[in-house]
Amino acid sequence: MTATPSRTAGNAEEIHLDLYIGGAFREASSSNRTEIRNPATGALIGSAAKGTREDMLAAVDIAAKAFDSGAWSNLDALDRGHILHAIGDALKTRLPEFAELETRVTGRPIREMTAQLSRLPEWFYYFGGIARGLEGHVKPFKGEYLNYTQFSPLGVVGLITSWNHPLLIFLKKLAPALAAGNTVVVKPSEIAPLTPLLFADLATHAGLPPGVLNIVTGEGSQIGPAMCAAPRMAKLDLTGGTDTGRRVAGMAAERLIPATMELGGKAPVLVFDDTPLDEAVNGAAFAGFIASGQTCVAGTRFIVQQTIYDAFVEKLVAKVAAFRLGDPIERTTDMGPVISRKQMETTLEYIESGKSEGARLVTGGELANLPAPLTDGYFIQPTIFADVTPNHRIVREEIFGPVICVMPFTDEQHALQLANDHEFGLGASVWTRDVTRAHRVVKKLNAGIVWINDHHKNDPASIWGGFGSSGYGKENGWNALHEYSKEQNVVVRLAPDFPDWYGGSDRYS
Ligand code: NAD
Repeated sequence: MTATPSRTAGNAEEIHLDLYIGGAFREASSSNRTEIRNPATGALIGSAAKGTREDMLAAVDIAAKAFDSGAWSNLDALDRGHILHAIGDALKTRLPEFAELETRVTGRPIREMTAQLSRLPEWFYYFGGIARGLEGHVKPFKGEYLNYTQFSPLGVVGLITSWNHPLLIFLKKLAPALAAGNTVVVKPSEIAPLTPLLFADLATHAGLPPGVLNIVTGEGSQIGPAMCAAPRMAKLDLTGGTDTGRRVAGMAAERLIPATMELGGKAPVLVFDDTPLDEAVNGAAFAGFIASGQTCVAGTRFIVQQTIYDAFVEKLVAKVAAFRLGDPIERTTDMGPVISRKQMETTLEYIESGKSEGARLVTGGELANLPAPLTDGYFIQPTIFADVTPNHRIVREEIFGPVICVMPFTDEQHALQLANDHEFGLGASVWTRDVTRAHRVVKKLNAGIVWINDHHKNDPASIWGGFGSSGYGKENGWNALHEYSKEQNVVVRLAPDFPDWYGGSDRYS
């Protein structure tokens, strides 16, 4: 692992990084640091600075000065696009290094991180491409008038991100924010800040002007509110839990600034009996256990047609019982640990609640005992509960661990009733060979992102965002570019003379 121009100390393998402000690494005003440890082994990976409120205000100030300078915000969108392309190219050359580091930090298997990160340059190519297409409109207006709209950037925008896809979540917000001409301050998760920091340095070297992208690491409860309250903050964009979302959305509402909230989920997966059983089972394993179930759209409520229910459960149990749990850095590993001791304990508590509330535990439910050096890792067996009911806690609440629930349905209406009986409305998938049924069911699902005969798939052009307690606003596509811009309406008189309203005539209409 090569550390970039940053403060490194101790073991050469370790990565110790400071804040990234004004185009360079910069020491925080406090010497406190957050240790970053590998959740599979407990080994120290490195550390990040614990920034303070003052550091956050300094970063916002520098981002505001960079915005006001016009070096980025007034640059022709075509030239901004060239720099975004250069960032995408630079990222491509560093993908193996970033994938390895994200695997060590999150515990997600290298196969997953390599596949996920290989797509990330596309966000810069896509938004670099459409930036020049952010065109206003000419609209009708009664009388002798020209009426048009034009877009401009919002100013300084604040991105607050979660740990589960440290680069993906950061970059899918960053690319449209930059394409629209904003300057940015980022508060990455305290658990996974290293790749975002290294990325910021890469972006500067690829040509992003200093001060356009700034990162302040530290505790969300400490520096998050300072970010939200900073007078120059023009928009807040959070990916995180629903409780955090309520706090951040409340602060945005207080300030009357726009906000995007990408929050929790409890995705239903509807399996109809015309789906080939092997496909349904492979799809279910993929939907439920990628990232050890720690994704917002993880399939967690499997709603399966009664006619294939027993066979589905039996095959799925056999499938996940054969998962190879192990060191995520090995390409043969199917599933790694959960992110932290706290997440492990929370997941075990949910498993206990499933048992005590009467759900049928059909596989897993225990910690996985793995040999050294994985003995201190946070490994939980992939766990399946069958015969759950809609009021079980494991069905109602987001667990964010490798635990899924399966329940039978009798007909289409029953399947929809079970799927929509929830406060979250983020991801969902429908598995059927019947094309009319697929579209009919999807239209009635309360979910912002739906897959038919697939799950988890993402693309820079494909909009992403939830309903209900899953938040509001959209990532990706033109929607994201618009949400990072302000649209102004301009009414132009074309008539050569301006009538005198107070001139005693009655002709104005
Ligand atoms: P979290 O809510 O604990 O933290 C998210 C971010 O918010 C972190 O950077 C944290 O430091 C910051 N934060 C915490 N308190 C804050 C405050 N008072 N003010 C400002 N910032 C604050 O979430 P997490 O554990 O990092 O991530 C898991 C959650 O994220 C899950 O609920 C998951 O469903 C959700 N998520 C949603 C999506 C989506 O696209 N909808 C994607 C990934 C994860």
